[in-house]
Amino acid sequence: MTAASSPGARVKLLTHGPRSAALSVELAGALPPPFRVEEREPLELALDALLDRQRGQLDASRLLELLPRAPGAHLLALVDVDLFLPVLTYVFGASELGGGRSVLSLARLAPADAGAELLLRRTVVEAVHELGHGLGLVHCAVPACPMHRTLWPEAIDLKGSAPCPACRRALEDALAPAAI
Ligand SMILES: [Zn+2]
Ligand SMILES: [Zn+2]
Repeated sequence: MTAASSPGARVKLLTHGPRSAALSVELAGALPPPFRVEEREPLELALDALLDRQRGQLDASRLLELLPRAPGAHLLALVDVDLFLPVLTYVFGASELGGGRSVLSLARLAPADAGAELLLRRTVVEAVHELGHGLGLVHCAVPACPMHRTLWPEAIDLKGSAPCPACRRALEDALAPAAI
């Protein structure tokens, strides 16, 4: 069995912070096809320099730019620290559209005293969302689709981790080997 012959999207998880490192083990096991986590390692970046001290948050777009490239794999950086974009108070995550690199923050997905199951479930849904963007998928109007845009953590619970038929087709197209 080789990576070249198995369909799907190879995912490399990078983690920053103890919560992310712990959760990444379960995330690797829970991420639905076509995503397949093949590597997990700590993100070797000094994020302190990217921290906006006043906001206590990290600029998600700057973090994205600094992520290493992972040839042949889709990169998802899972971080404990809260993220923002200059135009938005906070974001759960951000991705390079079709560029294969994504970031996802655990900071707002679930309250600290929430059960581990709730955090994992929301993380899986939003990981599919960001990885979908990394593969070129845009936001979807279907409320239950993971590509639907959610602004509040509670709204993630209305979504599932399985893409709607249109987004599934878009994923398959994005992953299809180029015709010879
Ligand atoms: Zn989105
Ligand atoms: Zn959809």
